[in-house]
Amino acid sequence: MNNNSLLSHRKEEPENGTLYMVGTPIGNLNDISQRALNILKNVSLVACEDTRQTKKIMNKFNISNKLISFNKHNSLIKIPKIKKDLKEGKSIAIVSDAGMPGICDPGEDIARSLKSEGVDIICIPGACAAIAALVSSGLSSSSFVFEGFLPKKKICREKILLEISKNEKTTIIYESPKRLRKLLKELFEFCGGNREIMVARELTKKFEEHVGNNISEVIEFFKDKDIIGEITIVVKGIKKRDLNPDKLIIKKDLNDLINAGLSLSEASKYLAKRNGLKKSEVYNMV
Ligand code: SAM
Repeated sequence: MNNNSLLSHRKEEPENGTLYMVGTPIGNLNDISQRALNILKNVSLVACEDTRQTKKIMNKFNISNKLISFNKHNSLIKIPKIKKDLKEGKSIAIVSDAGMPGICDPGEDIARSLKSEGVDIICIPGACAAIAALVSSGLSSSSFVFEGFLPKKKICREKILLEISKNEKTTIIYESPKRLRKLLKELFEFCGGNREIMVARELTKKFEEHVGNNISEVIEFFKDKDIIGEITIVVKGIKKRDLNPDKLIIKKDLNDLINAGLSLSEASKYLAKRNGLKKSEVYNMV
């Protein structure tokens, strides 16, 4: 029997020397498990992204415990300290401001670093905006891609947008309300207005809203609105037959050129010339 198969027989939690990655609510404070509350109450200390946020949960459930700050600014200093505490037998919980630690939140680095040192890491599952949005979208969830926040740098961003445009799998994206309009415009350019999409706003909260159906309609919906709240976007994958062979070849070439360092505009111009097409025709193909 190896160490991993022993995990299913754990009895008393928290265990000494164990790091717990604890999922917390993404809006509705009732979305927290009994197991998570037990861990937060009984670990030696809780390392949180923002102690004020975690205090809200602790207060609601009448829990008091030692909180320390653990975020992207201090993780380099805090990881060795947490490692030392765990080696001395303490149990520690990592929590982010909302949802699952490590999912676009602090937690990934410490899990990687401590796992390689042989520390036991246990996930206490909780809410995650990506999964809540995917499940409520009604889009295919048997196979999906989670992109998190798209990169800001144009060349990297266009590469991912291109991948999304030809992906057969459902894609999940996080975005801030300030930048939603820009992202929708980009998705329109790369995927076309007919691609099915759902924008999930304020999941699990009082004003939860799901906006669909296709990209054009969603752009229209948000046109004159102040966009506030938290946003997750789910984009339907394409059907293979939506791509004809010519398009497939040009798309592949386009992808190769972008990977080689050209911008979408430069690559489209080059391929248009090579294939006797207008630049806009290459653009429209993708
Ligand atoms: N760790 C979190 C999780 O497990 O979902 C994600 C943290 S990431 C810093 C924050 C982003 O998640 C937001 O900008 C938004 O895109 C998405 N998000 C978080 N809460 C949400 C909610 N209630 N409704 C919609 N999207 C949400």
